[in-house]
Amino acid sequence: MPELPEVEVCRRGLEPELVGQVIQGVVIRAPKLRHEIPPALATLLPGCRVVAVRRRGKYLLLDCERRGVQGTLIIHLGMSGNLRFVPFDLPPAKHDHFELVLAGQILRFADPRRFGVVLWQPGPPASAECHPLLATQGIEPLSETFTAEWLYEAIARRSGPIKPTLMDSHLVVGIGNIYASESLFRAGISPLRAANRVSRARYEILVPAIRETLSDAIAAGGSSIRDYVHSDGGAGCFQIQAGVYDRANQPCLRCGGVVRQIWQAGRSTYYCTGCQH
Ligand SMILES: [Zn+2]
Repeated sequence: MPELPEVEVCRRGLEPELVGQVIQGVVIRAPKLRHEIPPALATLLPGCRVVAVRRRGKYLLLDCERRGVQGTLIIHLGMSGNLRFVPFDLPPAKHDHFELVLAGQILRFADPRRFGVVLWQPGPPASAECHPLLATQGIEPLSETFTAEWLYEAIARRSGPIKPTLMDSHLVVGIGNIYASESLFRAGISPLRAANRVSRARYEILVPAIRETLSDAIAAGGSSIRDYVHSDGGAGCFQIQAGVYDRANQPCLRCGGVVRQIWQAGRSTYYCTGCQH
């Protein structure tokens, strides 16, 4: 499933090719994704210029406008979706459900499992945040407002274990299973520790660790931006050098202890009992 770093890398790949482009046409082949793709897009979007490509959590936001129309195309890649620029003469494949026809190429959305989203929020760019799918999203972990002080206050009443708490997208967006395990390892915090029993001083270590873990993954994917949005390149280049994730029973890279695997809230958690308390 695409995580925040993959979506951010996708955004960075789309931005230079989409911003300023005028949408020539829209093709909706299979409207039934997680929500139905609005048929009105076929008449709304042609003639619109893409003015910005933004990201909120794991949603891509394409701000569009033309005379009389202003709104944001909201795209989520779901479990298995991807966006690719393809030439006009490349025939659609089985799972190519939606496309934006541009002046020189096509932006094609494929999604085999159909958990993706293509929706429209009318109004100026800021109103996209009011869409029901986006209004409940937590803070952006790469934003300047995500600070140790903020997280410490936000978690003050949360007595559940820190790891699933960090993964709650209503609190913070985009800290998926890998990034939660790795951030806690980097910060030396046990995933089992009650969230509100982590000291303020340790949040000063955890917040930069979360930022660095996500930034490292974006950097790892950044070198493959062209592959990601062009041709059929895969999303397999995003893995950070994992300290603990998927390393059950292997030696901890820091202390030589054994990495343990446990289950929390239905997800596997990896940690080192020697380094994380
Ligand atoms: Zn260790």
